[in-house]
Amino acid sequence: MTYKNFTVETDADGIALVTWDMPDKSMNVFTVEVMEEIEQILAATVADAGVKGVVFTSGKSTFSGGADLTMIRGMFTMLHEEQARDPQAAKQKLFEAAGRMSWLWRKIETNGKPWVSAINGTCMGGAFELSLACHGRVASNAKSVKIALPEVKVGIFPGAGGTQRVSRLTDAQSALQMMTTGQSLTASRAKAMGLVHQVVEPDQLIPAAKQMIKDGLKPVAPWDEKGFKVPGGGVWTPAAAQLFPAAPAILRRETAGNYPGALAILKCVYEGLQLPFDTALKVEQRYFTQVLGTTEAFSMIRSLFISMQELGKGARRPAGVEKTQIRKVGVVGAGFMGASIAYVTAAAGIPVVLIDRDQEAADKGKAHSEKLVSDQVGKGRMTKEEGEKLLSLVTPTPDYSTLADVDLVVEAVFEDRAVKKAVIEQVEAVIAPTTIFASNTSTLPITGLAENSKRPDQFIGVHFFSPVEKMMLTEVILGEKTGDKALAMALDFVAKIKKTPIVVNDTRGFFVNRCVFRYINEAYDMLAEGVPAAMIENAAKMAGMPVGPLSLNDEVAVDLSQKIMRASIADLGEASVKPEHMKLIDKMVDELDRRGRKNGKGFYEYPAKPAKKFLWPGLKDLYPQKPASEVDVNVLKQRFLVTIALEAARTVEEGIVTDPREADVGSILGFGFAPYTGGTLSYIDGMGVSNFVALAEKLEAQYGDHFAPTPLLRDMAAKGETFYTRFDPYGNVGKAA
Ligand code: NAD
Repeated sequence: MTYKNFTVETDADGIALVTWDMPDKSMNVFTVEVMEEIEQILAATVADAGVKGVVFTSGKSTFSGGADLTMIRGMFTMLHEEQARDPQAAKQKLFEAAGRMSWLWRKIETNGKPWVSAINGTCMGGAFELSLACHGRVASNAKSVKIALPEVKVGIFPGAGGTQRVSRLTDAQSALQMMTTGQSLTASRAKAMGLVHQVVEPDQLIPAAKQMIKDGLKPVAPWDEKGFKVPGGGVWTPAAAQLFPAAPAILRRETAGNYPGALAILKCVYEGLQLPFDTALKVEQRYFTQVLGTTEAFSMIRSLFISMQELGKGARRPAGVEKTQIRKVGVVGAGFMGASIAYVTAAAGIPVVLIDRDQEAADKGKAHSEKLVSDQVGKGRMTKEEGEKLLSLVTPTPDYSTLADVDLVVEAVFEDRAVKKAVIEQVEAVIAPTTIFASNTSTLPITGLAENSKRPDQFIGVHFFSPVEKMMLTEVILGEKTGDKALAMALDFVAKIKKTPIVVNDTRGFFVNRCVFRYINEAYDMLAEGVPAAMIENAAKMAGMPVGPLSLNDEVAVDLSQKIMRASIADLGEASVKPEHMKLIDKMVDELDRRGRKNGKGFYEYPAKPAKKFLWPGLKDLYPQKPASEVDVNVLKQRFLVTIALEAARTVEEGIVTDPREADVGSILGFGFAPYTGGTLSYIDGMGVSNFVALAEKLEAQYGDHFAPTPLLRDMAAKGETFYTRFDPYGNVGKAA
């Protein structure tokens, strides 16, 4: 029998080597067809008396990344369509779909012949759950092997037996830790936890897996043996009595109860460990169905899994422009941002010339790469040779003529129109006619900067976020005259350095910073109302924001806020900034010299380490304080999310953002907008546009007209539309804005 996605070769010892190698994919993923073929292989190996056992492996450099986008999208589409017709039948169908993988893995586990999973590379989600259902697991010790059950990161949980098998192989605390964080394990860590049996050299993987079978591996899972005992003793032990009551509290501290998937893991483990295995799987299936039906799971899967991958793969790349091979990049301005941009470029294997005003400044920029490389080598994340190779790709120089053969220039000089104008002219005097010029400006509109260029169609904004090495997002900004080639090159570059791009049209603050300012401004309003600062910060975190607004303002610098506010007043008039905000920030900067973390005092105090930062006590003297009992934390939470979501909606209304996936992904990756909502627009869609409009009106009545719902939102509410129906992203794919 032949299969599309697998080859099966049975050797003289009767061991069938099943190799998963999907012909049209770079990584193996679970599709409906793959599941069917696994079922057929299982039936065939069971039926064939000549087969003594099965080794399951991958023919690609990775084992498998888990589920396939189209399968997941198909499941949600089915659910939505069915729900409208017959909600009860929809639930039943979802329950069956949710259990499909789980029961197939159980069939493998109980088939009567030994199966060994030979893990040769990254093994994620459902693929590791399949491995857990095999009777033996051997992993290669290659650095590329990463093992994880990361489902919680997209709003769900390991629902194909993962919660039950992991908690029966390792102690409950480690099991909960692994699954509620979705952390990646090295092969040796997985072995230490009891999740894999052997770790071997890569070339010994298949022989070792076959040897397990030849050595008489029993085709019975430990939990199917009589007298099986859960590691650590299960839930009725003194240790468990300490762990399980505390676990929900710890989870609540970490997630503020916003993630149903994470909570379901606790329930599955706690309840499942008290039940026979098959019943436990059914309990897991029920919780899985329940979680899959939540708005959080739907929105997180859409944004953090499907949309993120689609944008990463160039969903907004103009069709018809050939993929560009970026052979060399020039970075002009070797300061804080330029130095990091040069590093990530070299880390992607692209040679970079790093230019500054003199050799010393350029060298200083390269020193940043040297420091990062030495840290990585020190931590064992990079070999010395890899580090040397990376550094050899960065050439620091003040000489602009070295830009003659670059494909792309990224400009990161001072945020000053005159300096940028001079640099644009100097660069264009030496670059080739096809070279694309990208500015990393954070506030200056691209169309205006492009007026200094002789080739505005080859001029674009590529806005990085700090710290560049860590932040996954890059905002690509189209000037009025930016052409498709510039967009394609920018997107190819962003893909090469492994960041996720969003493409937006030109506006003051672009997308991300416009939203971030709303977040910080709301905190200024709250301070002025007398809300205690600690409540402001905590409410924001309870709403799902990773960093409180005052803490964030300290990080970006309070005097930078002042500069931006003053520039807004100069360009757009007094009404563009609330006088109360300007007064607060002028006082912080001019009177109190509280500029943020950089000078050790801002909204927080920064004592010498190891002491932790704490809110500046003087804040409460700036405004008469309200007693905490008079402040409704839920309203504070709503204000933060609604003001940001409204700004995102305005960017759509103004045509700045044209694809809802970008507002969602951009808001999560750019400033951590409550990920459980799926992002700014999914937050609105998730509660329903008319509910959102009603909520915004309520807030408007109490807290000001910046909460007024926009005409677009009112129109959408009246028509019963969502952002994903009105601005259907799949009609947009491939089109430049
Ligand atoms: P920076 O002051 O740290 O670096 C600017 C560098 O440009 C300096 O090394 C300076 O010597 C160099 N420079 C100035 N004039 C030059 C010239 N004519 N030729 C060559 N080099 C010249 O500033 P930064 O924070 O790295 O910001 C750079 C750009 O990136 C700005 O446009 C800023 O708005 C933008 N940006 C900054 C951040 C951030 O968090 N700092 C984030 C996103 C974007």
